[in-house]
Amino acid sequence: MPPPDNSSALKLNPVLATLPVYQPGRPIEEVARELGLPAADIIKLASNENPFGPSPLALAAMEKALRQTNLYPDGNAFYLKGALAQKLGVETANLAVGNGSNEIIEFAARALLAPGDDVVMSQFCFAVYPIVTKMAGANPVVVPAKDYGHDLPAMLRAVTPKTKIIFVANPNNPTGTLVPRAELLRFVEQVPSNVLLLMDEAYIEFLEDAPDLLPLIRSGKKNLLLMRTFSKIYGLAGLRVGYGIGPADLIAGLEKIRQPFNLNLIAQAGALAALEDAEHLQRTHANNLAGLKFYEDAFRALQLEFVPSSANFILVCVGEGQQVWSGMQQLGVITRLMAGYQLPKWIRISIGTPAENSRCLAALKKVLGR
Ligand SMILES: *Cc1c(COP(=O)(O)O)cnc(C)c1O
Repeated sequence: MPPPDNSSALKLNPVLATLPVYQPGRPIEEVARELGLPAADIIKLASNENPFGPSPLALAAMEKALRQTNLYPDGNAFYLKGALAQKLGVETANLAVGNGSNEIIEFAARALLAPGDDVVMSQFCFAVYPIVTKMAGANPVVVPAKDYGHDLPAMLRAVTPKTKIIFVANPNNPTGTLVPRAELLRFVEQVPSNVLLLMDEAYIEFLEDAPDLLPLIRSGKKNLLLMRTFSKIYGLAGLRVGYGIGPADLIAGLEKIRQPFNLNLIAQAGALAALEDAEHLQRTHANNLAGLKFYEDAFRALQLEFVPSSANFILVCVGEGQQVWSGMQQLGVITRLMAGYQLPKWIRISIGTPAENSRCLAALKKVLGR
């Protein structure tokens, strides 16, 4: 028998060679193994998770749902979509559920993009946007940021006949910036009707007075897709539940791409119950405002530059980002390195409990020698 031919005949999609690898916040267990510390000694303020954990109502519902996991989940998420439709004042035909809102981003890319198309996004945007764009063979058109936030007029000017999608995150991750309401509404009206505006509202529940784009969906606007998630304020990042809100014909297209069981049975039960937990939401919201103020006051006192944030994290300029990030990690505080976002002098800190915030600040000061 001839020796097996191990030279690779597989041809990977050449785009893969050009893609960055998404760098998530480091898991507590991984850092604990590396440092030889107990996991309980480590805090993670790296992925904008809810420091109070999942809603107790969601936990109870999920424990109950465990007993039914011999059954396939409802492929249409009937109860979750019904509850969302009622809460948002839209039809269930306006809703698509995703395995995290990351999956909604992917559905939209697959529904709209062909090789050679353009996709407009901002400098310092969510890292997933350029990845899904390139995977579709389309070109990310990156518009320089203004004061670390979106420059919407410049993004409009970047639209070409080949543009199919504009990504806007409001508030933005990783910078926490918010576009003023009037400017946002003007922009939404100016986006050409053949371009989809994908408004990523992952942090919208943290705002005091959120710009409400739902009336536009209700009145039948065709080129707007809002995206929200249970990963942030609802404290269910590990469950993977997000959703898109858009015109019924676009949603019907996304539904064809969606695999029927993308939301598992436990996730559907947990998300549904979390929607009802106003107390958990309220507590998280209040803690977040206090935590943002805590960090902003501290950074002012330390004369560290920061970007005022409307979300549940804050970007702060610490000089040698990699060194400070690593030093804080040695002290058991995981934050997020921003080098991958071309912000090598900055780290991003998620708002924790008051005790976690104090510990994080102490670690930062120690590493900076202050
Ligand atoms: C966290 C985040 C998401 C949501 O991710 P999930 O997949 O729902 O966990 C989406 N967009 C932005 C900008 C985010 O920061």
